[in-house]
Amino acid sequence: MFPVDTIRADFPILKRTINGKPLVYFDNAATSQTPQVVIDAIVDYYTNYNANIHRGVHTLSQEATDKYEEARIKIQHHFNAKHAYEMLFTAGTTHSINLVASGFSSLLTKGDEIIVSALEHHSNIVPWQLVCEKTGAILRVIPMDEDGSLRMDVYNKILTQKTKLVFCNHVSNALGTINPIKEIIHKAHKFGAAVLIDGAQACPHIKPDVQDLDVDFYVASAHKICGPTGVGILYGKEEWLQKLPPYQGGGEMIETVTFEKTTYAGLPHKFEAGTPNICDGIAFGVALDYMNAIGFENIAAYENDLLAYGTQKLQEIAGVRIYGSVAKTAVISFTIEGIHPYDIGVILDKLGVAVRTGHHCAQPIMAFYKIPGTVRASFAFYNTKEEIDIFIEAVKKAKMMLS
Ligand SMILES: *Cc1c(COP(=O)(O)O)cnc(C)c1O
Repeated sequence: MFPVDTIRADFPILKRTINGKPLVYFDNAATSQTPQVVIDAIVDYYTNYNANIHRGVHTLSQEATDKYEEARIKIQHHFNAKHAYEMLFTAGTTHSINLVASGFSSLLTKGDEIIVSALEHHSNIVPWQLVCEKTGAILRVIPMDEDGSLRMDVYNKILTQKTKLVFCNHVSNALGTINPIKEIIHKAHKFGAAVLIDGAQACPHIKPDVQDLDVDFYVASAHKICGPTGVGILYGKEEWLQKLPPYQGGGEMIETVTFEKTTYAGLPHKFEAGTPNICDGIAFGVALDYMNAIGFENIAAYENDLLAYGTQKLQEIAGVRIYGSVAKTAVISFTIEGIHPYDIGVILDKLGVAVRTGHHCAQPIMAFYKIPGTVRASFAFYNTKEEIDIFIEAVKKAKMMLS
């Protein structure tokens, strides 16, 4: 039995009421909630050893440096990277993607091609458009199918010797569908192209193994994995991180500086200019410890149960359409015929149920289905079937009020 009651007690926010109703938090795909151990780690840092890292001789600085570098090693082990220095701290997924994009804008030339999937978050489309504008490279798209899967037949055709880079999310944030990234990576490598996988939406549910995937870059945000906002990772294979130029200039990232020439520090510091988000990096490590203690296989099994239950109950409501029917994480993206998703979201909030409505930063997907957006209910391992029952009743009520 999955110990959901004990787990819920770890999350103080779950005791909140909203509009006089118990909070039902189903917006986990936007950000997850924070367990007490992570909150405690943040308080502990500022209470006991707040100091700048890597350059102080004094005790506090040493303690902070040790904890920060310990966190990097925890994260390395979690993702099974070969070396800790292949694991860069960033401000999150968006920052990580921009770092890689900026690096590639000096490696690409006119006529090179970049492939992105049609299921991308805006943060994974816009940086590549900018790179293409700057370099004359061409952006190609793997289209999607009605069931939310990627058209791998088209991928096989557009992948050529000109392809330098392929970008795809591991799990779509709008639909929750799991993409065949191992196949995508394997095929790209046959043409010598690098692959960046956006793992922001996968990491709350799946423990990725970057060596097994043989991926070149893998990125994620802490705040979707029970950690704090404003911190995330960029995994890069050593050979690629050596090849990419530095992203930002500043302290921490240099070896020697004169006005004639600056030499850069080794990995990971070459990409970590300035004082990093020390506290939240440490807290990210604590969040991963917390989730690993529960176990990602246990989390996935429990969430799949919630997904099956929620899907079945929702489908019983007339007029409901659910998007994405291939293998998924615990996300239900749906519409009700004749009702705007936003209006449903507002009524659900009045009833204490937090969901996301709109295009979920993935307008091309909404354009494909010819809808303005969806209502997205996304579950975490601290949610329950009782909460799904409350949600279903709230959807029925919203439908009655709005139709
Ligand atoms: C949330 C999300 C992002 C953006 O993450 P930030 O933490 O806002 O930078 C990118 N891609 C996917 C798939 C996401 O779910």
